[in-house]
Amino acid sequence: MIIGSHCKMSSKDFLLGSVNEALSYDANALMIYTGAPQNTMRRPVKDLKVKEATELLAQNNIPMENMIAHAPYIINLANCVNASTFELATTFLEKEIARCEEIGLKYLVLHPGSFTTATFDKGINKIVEGLNMVLKQDQKVTILLETMSGKGSEVGYEFEHLKYIMDNTIFKQHLAVCLDTCHIHDAGYDLNDFDTILNDFDKIIGLDKLKVMHINDSKNEMGAKKDRHANIGDGFIGFKNLHYIVNHEKLENVIKILETPYIEEQAPYKAEIALLKSEI
Ligand code: FE
Ligand code: FE
Ligand code: ZN
Repeated sequence: MIIGSHCKMSSKDFLLGSVNEALSYDANALMIYTGAPQNTMRRPVKDLKVKEATELLAQNNIPMENMIAHAPYIINLANCVNASTFELATTFLEKEIARCEEIGLKYLVLHPGSFTTATFDKGINKIVEGLNMVLKQDQKVTILLETMSGKGSEVGYEFEHLKYIMDNTIFKQHLAVCLDTCHIHDAGYDLNDFDTILNDFDKIIGLDKLKVMHINDSKNEMGAKKDRHANIGDGFIGFKNLHYIVNHEKLENVIKILETPYIEEQAPYKAEIALLKSEI
């Protein structure tokens, strides 16, 4: 099983610290932000201890592609109301892709965007426009569009939305999907019947496009459109369903990342990974 969690990247050890954190959870995958998710300040890549981190991954037989990045929340490609927000989104996404490429990261998870006070149709087409401005034919990084809960004016809460974006983007070969269990549950997908969801995903998008999953329980009922993550087994999705999902034979090669909340300031990931791997 390829499984890990979100890991911090804090000063001094940077990516080396992130990999060490992942190893402390017995993980063989991890997700990081290449800098603070709420702002655009970024350390130069040469300061991030990339070589040391890469070597530590190799020593532990962990492929480099199991370390993935998440783009900052400030990137909103769907904003067609505020030109400067859209401009910031495209220029910053371009820089994030370059940063990932420099570090050697293959996957960058991206929230498709929120249309704010415009309309869904305008928003989703703005996302396509933005991706067409940013993606380059020969880039090495794959952007993973994340399935969203549909809170506020989010685009991407149905598989069809992601399919539409992919179909209309010129360099669609650089797009794939990150499926978040909390988000799809909150969007109204019934995870008690996960095989139907997988079949739908395969029919609409194609299972070969599913590269990463975020494994989270949900604090809210199915369809609540809230997006509040719960610890594994503590929410409305439940341990049995999440265990079934991470152990699904069709998802063996999909990278699974926990984004569950800390418990009394402690990361729950070591215990949650063990629980998900256990035989039941
Ligand atoms: Fe996300
Ligand atoms: Fe997520
Ligand atoms: Zn979320």
